Amino acid sequence: MTFTRRTFLTAAGCTGLLGLGTTQVSSQNGSDLSRNSFTLMSGTEKATDVYVTTASESGPTALVVGGMHGNEEAGYVATESIKQWTIERGTLVTIPKANAEAVAEDGRTADDGVDLNRQFPSGEEPTTDLAREIWGVVEEYEPDVVIDLHESVGIYDGDMIGGVGQVVFTSWDEAASNDAKKATDYLNENYVSRDGYEFSVGAFSPPDDGLDGLLTHKAARDTSAVSFLAEVTSKETALDKRVQWHTKLVQQLVEEELLTSSGDEDEGGDNEDDGQNNDEENKEEGDNDDEKNQSPVARIQTTPQNVSDGSLERGDTVTLDASASKDPDGDVVKYEWDLDADGSFEESGQTTKLSVPKCKNYPVTLRVTDNSGKTATDEITITTIR
Ligand SMILES: [Zn+2]
Repeated sequence: MTFTRRTFLTAAGCTGLLGLGTTQVSSQNGSDLSRNSFTLMSGTEKATDVYVTTASESGPTALVVGGMHGNEEAGYVATESIKQWTIERGTLVTIPKANAEAVAEDGRTADDGVDLNRQFPSGEEPTTDLAREIWGVVEEYEPDVVIDLHESVGIYDGDMIGGVGQVVFTSWDEAASNDAKKATDYLNENYVSRDGYEFSVGAFSPPDDGLDGLLTHKAARDTSAVSFLAEVTSKETALDKRVQWHTKLVQQLVEEELLTSSGDEDEGGDNEDDGQNNDEENKEEGDNDDEKNQSPVARIQTTPQNVSDGSLERGDTVTLDASASKDPDGDVVKYEWDLDADGSFEESGQTTKLSVPKCKNYPVTLRVTDNSGKTATDEITITTIR
């Protein structure tokens, strides 16, 4: 899968391409959303998908990561559901299974023994290919909020020895700790019933503490992102509950950024009520639509395979193949292509051909529709040397 870079789209050399990054899909509640996905470490055992949902209303960008540790199931199960969220504004980027190989092996690390969440040293390049590609997503989308979901076997009691469950660690800015405090208060009140399981808030350890290489630490230090690392406990707690904690936490942490339209501002109503309302809405959506009717996933494959490395020349023919697209709960029934970058899908069919134009970076978009009418898009950029 080709890594579609937003900078390519906005810097595209052909005229009329500016609207392409916002190819729109109507969500069930009527707001315009664009959903896109691409694969990191494509073709390797570490291959993992990144999902990008963009609302038509501009706003902040949030990155949510799960599966950094492959045996911390709640994080990636929650992120798999978060990636489907309908957002009101801004951009939601999710990487459900950051270390997909470790997830497949159900280990903290894959066979290589590399702890992925120690490969992001602050101020330096990440130390593995996978870490570099994940960091590439941060550089590409410049998230305002970064949230990494983990779990622990124990309960946090002030030191790390008994485990770090039920804590939201935050970047050092006041906004982060305030947001985390609000989110955990909300959780403790509504979703924690057992004594001792209340969530607390802690700051990331200082840079000279010996604990370096965490994605969230690097995001906090090397970018201006507000960062959170959430730990739920698996101690005598079923998976459903842990997933619920993570999901509700993320919902609280990005509510202002993504889940509230700027047109929705009320007149001084209290925040507790807002949280409840959104909660209800999301729950309804989940019950009525999302769970029963999942979006398809659009995939473009090309022949030749490498269309973005500049090896193509004007006039070369590229075959575009959508047969790797899929629908988790049905069938893909329609394939449409925008081959002239005007935002409308003028070609249909599972495969099509394109004669490479002279543009340096030429975007191609696929839209697939499943049997229940839900759509998804994928975009690639075909690059020629000149
Ligand atoms: Zn972890």
